[in-house]
Amino acid sequence: MKYDYLIVGSGLFGSVFAHEAAKKGKKCLVIDRRDHLGGNIYCEEKEGIRIHTYGAHIFHTSNRQIWDYVNQFVEFNHYVNSPVANYKGEIYNLPFNMNTFSRMWGISTPQEAAAIIAAQRKAITGTPENLEEQAISLVGTDIYQKLIKGYTEKQWGRDCKELPAFIIRRLPVRYTYDNNYFNDRYQGIPIGGYNQIIEKLLDGIDTEIGADFIADREKWERAADKIVYTGPIDEYFGYELGRLEYRGLRFETERLEEENHQGVAVMNYTDRETPYTRVIEHKHFEFGHQPVTYITREYPCEWKPGDEAYYPVNDAKNQALYAKYKALAEKETHVIFGGRLGEYKYYDMDKVIERALTCIDGI
Ligand code: FAD
Ligand code: UDP
Repeated sequence: MKYDYLIVGSGLFGSVFAHEAAKKGKKCLVIDRRDHLGGNIYCEEKEGIRIHTYGAHIFHTSNRQIWDYVNQFVEFNHYVNSPVANYKGEIYNLPFNMNTFSRMWGISTPQEAAAIIAAQRKAITGTPENLEEQAISLVGTDIYQKLIKGYTEKQWGRDCKELPAFIIRRLPVRYTYDNNYFNDRYQGIPIGGYNQIIEKLLDGIDTEIGADFIADREKWERAADKIVYTGPIDEYFGYELGRLEYRGLRFETERLEEENHQGVAVMNYTDRETPYTRVIEHKHFEFGHQPVTYITREYPCEWKPGDEAYYPVNDAKNQALYAKYKALAEKETHVIFGGRLGEYKYYDMDKVIERALTCIDGI
């Protein structure tokens, strides 16, 4: 059977595209090389606890249209992400706010915090050129040393001086006692889990799992005239211009015979020596009270071909190579490259949905 669109990847980008294309009367086939649909938002359920298989996912957006869009499929609970940082046993609230400053310096007013940060950032003059300069300029050297440097170097496997400043600008810095990790107007976890979103998006659409586009390219290319490709863009082109770098992750999940292990969904380990960056206690995303709990330690690791690519490394070298792949992609007029890997961009879920909806407008 010939389809209008072959959609490679059943994550949010591919699934939203397929859903909207089907509404426009297009016949779509969605394939995924994993053994399940949903990409990185997929969850598995164990003993009534939904495990975020590919790392903690909290939906947040300031875009009302996107919020309404996802709420068509599922309702969201009132979870507000308020992770804590554990630096060698010292506990700090995140993101960087008056609770963090107070714990760090024993102060209580915004004026005192601002004065300390102003004194500590004196060394940075001009526009911050890298993550280290950006971090010190935002929160000073003490917080940089205890809460940012070690975590970031583990997460990215690179020195903070070699990383782009924008990575740290994702995090709010506030002179109020507010531990909400995001500034967005809307936030939550889907009641009943993320999988329902994908199930509803792909309802009535042909799908195939365990199906790798690259491994059987000629067959899949014959299936449709047009392709939506959400895998790594360099892999699509057979790495002909060289390899883009990605950051890998390894997840270690453990079942514990206790009701409440760490008292919070996300605890960041910000020292350099602890090999993992975060411990997720999944039940707290949904306010669970089961007698057991599941935790996942998240270990960043070097990515090599064949591994899952989790984060694009958007430093100058990789951005330059991506720009060359993007130029090649523009010549593939029958292919739309989308999503975190297809566009080599550090997109959150709301931005991926927004992009997919924009692409749909163009078909
Ligand atoms: P993906 O979900 O990666 O889907 C791509 C799919 O394509 C995959 O299923 C893959 O198997 C498939 N594929 C690739 N190549 C092929 C091929 N050759 N053949 C067949 N199939 C192929 N966002 C938030 O908004 N909030 C968060 O809290 C958050 N936390 C995150 C935590 C982690 C650890 C990570 C890694 C990401 C997080 N994100 C978060 C980002 C979020 O996961 C992404 O924005 C979103 O899932 C990207 O959707 P996508 O469709 O682009 O990609
Ligand atoms: N970060 C940090 N310390 C923390 C949390 C985050 O230094 O305790 C930095 C780190 O560089 C990280 C970036 O802020 O890569 C963005 O953090 P975020 O939690 O948004 O990362 P993600 O959830 O996308 O992995």
